[in-house]
Amino acid sequence: MSKQVQAIRGMNDCLPKDSGLWQYVEQQLRQTVASYGYQEIRFPIVEMTELFKRSIGEVTDIVEKEMYTFSDRNGDSLTLRPEGTACCVRAGNEHGLLYNQEQRLWYMGPMFRHERPQKGRYRQFHQFGLEAFGIASSDIDAEVIRLSAHLWQQLGLSRHVRLELNTLGSPEARQQYRAALVAYLSDHHELLDEDSKRRLHSNPLRILDSKNPALADLLSKAPSLSDYLDTESAEHFAELQQRLTAAGIEFEVNPRLVRGLDYYNKTVFEWVTDSLGAQGTVCAGGRYDGLVEQLGGKPCPAVGFALGMERLILLLQTLELAPAEQAQADWYLMASGLDAELALIPVAEQLRQAFPQQRLMQHCGGGAMKKQFKKADKSGAELALVLGSDELASDSITIKWLRKDQPQQRIALTGLVSFLQNELAKE
Ligand code: ATP
Ligand code: MG
Repeated sequence: MSKQVQAIRGMNDCLPKDSGLWQYVEQQLRQTVASYGYQEIRFPIVEMTELFKRSIGEVTDIVEKEMYTFSDRNGDSLTLRPEGTACCVRAGNEHGLLYNQEQRLWYMGPMFRHERPQKGRYRQFHQFGLEAFGIASSDIDAEVIRLSAHLWQQLGLSRHVRLELNTLGSPEARQQYRAALVAYLSDHHELLDEDSKRRLHSNPLRILDSKNPALADLLSKAPSLSDYLDTESAEHFAELQQRLTAAGIEFEVNPRLVRGLDYYNKTVFEWVTDSLGAQGTVCAGGRYDGLVEQLGGKPCPAVGFALGMERLILLLQTLELAPAEQAQADWYLMASGLDAELALIPVAEQLRQAFPQQRLMQHCGGGAMKKQFKKADKSGAELALVLGSDELASDSITIKWLRKDQPQQRIALTGLVSFLQNELAKE
């Protein structure tokens, strides 16, 4: 036997035993965004590398060390998208969706980051993302957060996630704060770890995010961004909190929440769970009023979030909130002999048209009835519809219940649809 080629580390297959759960979550997501009036946008998986450098920021973890970048045959530097917001803004600018307009958009699909694979952290993972463009007031921040809260409700997760909230203020306020933070941390340079020393001048706010316990004391005494906040951002934040409270959404203000991407201003938030260990952030987002202009468009306020599908699905599995696995088929159709099989085909197609919600599996591969019944059983079907020589001679079909004790029944083909309609109505 020749050696098997393996999948790339950190890039997972989604097997049939799990795809039902993925579809369930996707369905809940689609329903939720539709009920808030958001429309789907799709963009390519590969973009010019420059797009991510200019948006996410040159000195962020993603751009510094996590991107899958390669040169195209003509020498362009391309990157597998590590996130969707930059792509969404690029597409919005390119197609004139953002100038002087409001857009409520969502997207879903694979993202790529070269990180150390572990539970809840992969190299190909999937995000569901949402972006609202053209509205500067905090009512839309609140809507975006309410939408996510609605989703937790739909999935039965409300008790298992909590909302952390912060404001990063205006770029100017952040600049002033940054200077104060750098001054403070420079005074204590000897206490910083290697990562933080490296970030001190490139991306000092990210030091606040450090998980290193040795830095906890130093960071707890650091100047706080809230002391540098501009009036407008402070008001925006106060209003947002008021709106969330009125909507009955609990939150905790976390002054250390800064997020890892450069483009945020004002509102930032994360939905966090304690049930997934270190990879506890299920959904994260915020406002990015400057990004559209930064990527070449006219100024356009924006707010959005992205949620990690794998983490969401892991959470549902961990908490045993995933719906029961579905059987492969509802009805299993079988025939004995070629003539019966030929007669069964139009019946099968007629039933599929009459019952589009039912999953009909027709036996293939021949064999004795006993073998066919074994397959029917394995498919999980409730009913077997059997066409043998007796049935063929009398234009009828036999129905057998596979999961309950009920005598089988021979039905005339002309009455089959209405018989099955009655059966379904009983459920
Ligand atoms: P983390 O702090 O966990 O690295 P992040 O801040 O890099 O997350 P974002 O870029 O904000 O994450 O992406 C939004 C969401 O996408 C995260 O909250 C998480 O649920 C999910 N996510 C991010 N990176 C990965 C990954 N490598 N594997 C699986 N899910 C991920
Ligand atoms: Mg990350």
